[in-house]
Amino acid sequence: MIDVIDVIVVGGGPTGLMLAAELRLHGVRVVVLERDPEPTPVVRSLGLHVRSIEIMDQRGLLERFLEQGKQYPVGAGFFAGITKPAPDLDTAHAYVLGIPQPRTDRLLNEHAVELGADIRRGCELVGLSQTEDATEDGTGVTAELADGTRLRARYLVGCDGGRSTVRKLLGVGFPGESARVETLIGEMRVEAAPETVATVVAEVRETHRGFGLGPLGDGVYRVVVPAEGVTEDRSVPPTLDEVKRQLRAYAGTDFGVHSPSWLSRFGDATRQAERYRTGRVLLAGDAAHIHPPVGGQGLNLGIQDAFNLGWKLAAEVRGWAPADLLDSYHAERHPVAADVLDNTRAQMLLLSAEPGPSAVRRLLSELMDFEDVNRHLIEKITAIGVRYDFADGDGDGDGGGGGGRDGGGHGLIGRRLRDVPLKHGRLYELMRTGRGLLLDRTGSLSVTGWSDRVDHVVPEGLEGLEELEGLSAPAVLLRPDGYVAWAGDDQRELLARLPKWFGAAAS
Ligand SMILES: Cc1cc2nc3c(=O)[nH]c(=O)nc-3n(C[C@H](O)[C@H](O)[C@H](O)COP(=O)(O)OP(=O)(O)OC[C@H]3O[C@@H](n4cnc5c(N)ncnc54)[C@H](O)[C@@H]3O)c2cc1C
Repeated sequence: MIDVIDVIVVGGGPTGLMLAAELRLHGVRVVVLERDPEPTPVVRSLGLHVRSIEIMDQRGLLERFLEQGKQYPVGAGFFAGITKPAPDLDTAHAYVLGIPQPRTDRLLNEHAVELGADIRRGCELVGLSQTEDATEDGTGVTAELADGTRLRARYLVGCDGGRSTVRKLLGVGFPGESARVETLIGEMRVEAAPETVATVVAEVRETHRGFGLGPLGDGVYRVVVPAEGVTEDRSVPPTLDEVKRQLRAYAGTDFGVHSPSWLSRFGDATRQAERYRTGRVLLAGDAAHIHPPVGGQGLNLGIQDAFNLGWKLAAEVRGWAPADLLDSYHAERHPVAADVLDNTRAQMLLLSAEPGPSAVRRLLSELMDFEDVNRHLIEKITAIGVRYDFADGDGDGDGGGGGGRDGGGHGLIGRRLRDVPLKHGRLYELMRTGRGLLLDRTGSLSVTGWSDRVDHVVPEGLEGLEELEGLSAPAVLLRPDGYVAWAGDDQRELLARLPKWFGAAAS
C-alpha cells in the first residue's frame, strides 16, 4: 500500500514542525517523518529572538510562547557575550524570549497537529529517489523508510538536522570548516554551595569564556565545559565521568555534580549546503547550515527558513506559483544563513581569551558604544535587519511609474514591517491566514483576480499605520511571510507586481 502525499517533511525538529504548519495553513497534505520515537529532553536552544517572536505573533502563537517563557532585555551578552544597553529597535517585541528548546518543539508540534499535520514518530528516512516531472498521479519523490515502507509525494523537504540524510542522499556539497573544538553540556545536580560555584565559575571564565555552570533552580545546573578533544561521532553523549574530569581540569573541582537529566556534546563546525533545492527536494534548518551556537541563532534561522519556504511550496502544490517562486527560497535564504555563519565565526574568535582577540574584543566593545554599531549587530542577531533583494531587473516595463516601476525604489521593499496597532486590532493579527496582504490607504486599489490569495485591507482600519516610521507609501503589498513586495499608489504598478509573487490572475 503506497500513500500519496503532497509534501514529506523529514525531521520533526523546530524547522520541520514550523514548515508542516505553514503548509497546512494552505491545505497542503503533509506528513512529517521523525526518526526519534519520543521527543528529546536535551535542551539546545534557550530562546527566541525578535524576528521569530514576530513570526509566532503573525501566526497567533505568541501568547502560548509567552506563557511558557521568560522575557529578557535585548543587548545583554548579545554579540560575543558583550553586554550593552539596548538601542531603540524597530519592533513591537524588543526582548529575547527565554524558552528551552523542548518547550518550543512541543508548542510547534501542537500547532502543526492542530492544523492537521500527520506527524509520524519512529520513522527514519533511509532512501530517496525523484523524477524531474511529476508522475501521472502527481508524485515525483519516493521516500524509503528504515522498516522498508515506501511513501510517495510531490515534494520532500529535508529538515533532518546537521547530519541530514536527505542532504547526503542528494549528494549536495556541504563546504565549510570541521569542528576544531568540542563542548560538553548537560543538566545535573551540584553539591557545592551556590556561592562557591559562582566564585569559581567567575575565576575560570576570566580565561575560558566557553565555561559555565548556570543555576536552573532547585540545585540543578546547566553545565558547559570544553571537551578533551573532538570526537568522531557527536551523537554519542558523554558520560558523567567525562564531564567531571573536564570540570576538574578547568576549575580544579567537579563541584560534586551528579544525577544528570541529560548529557550532550556539540562542536564548532561551520558549514552550508551548496544548494537548497535539488529538483523536488529541498533543505531547511540545520540540514542546510550549521554553526556554533554563539548568539543563539540556529533554531531561529531554521524557523525563518520554514516561514520563507512554506507559502512558496504551498503555491507550487496548489498550482498558482509563478515560475521562479520556489527558487527564490534559495536565492533569499542562502545569503541570510551565510551571514549568520560569518557572524558566528567572528564571535567565536572574539570569545577567545588570547591577547590578540581580547584586544579586538575591547575595541569592538568601545565601538558598540556607538548606538548605530550596537543596533547593526543586534539587528543581525535578531534577524530584523534582513532585507531580501527583490530587484529582478525584469524590465516588464508596463508600469512606467518613473523611479518605482515595481516599487523597487522604495526603502521598504524586501523588509518586514513591525507590528502596529490599528483602529480595530493589530497589523500582525491580519497576517494569520498566511495569505498576501494589501494595506491600502488610498482606498482606490484593487486585487481583483488575486483575491483568493491576497487580502485587501481598506483605509478605515489603517490609522495605526501612520505610526510606522518611514511608511511613507500610501499602500504596501505584503507577502505571506510579511515582507514588503511592493509599495506605491499606482494600480498599474500593482498589477505588474502581483504576478511575480502571486501568479496569474484568476479568470
Ligand atoms: C548547545 C546548543 C545550544 C543552542 N542554542 C541555541 C539558541 O539559544 N538559539 C538558537 O536559535 N539555536 C540554538 N542552537 C541551535 C538549535 O538547537 C538548532 O539550530 C535547531 O535545533 C535546528 O532545528 P532543526 O529542526 O533544523 O534540526 P533538529 O533540531 O536537529 O531536528 C532534526 C530532526 O530530524 C530528525 N531526523 C534526523 N535524521 C532523520 C531521518 N533520517 N529520518 C527522520 N528523521 C530524522 C531528528 O531526530 C531531529 O528530530 C543550539 C544548539 C546547541 C548544540
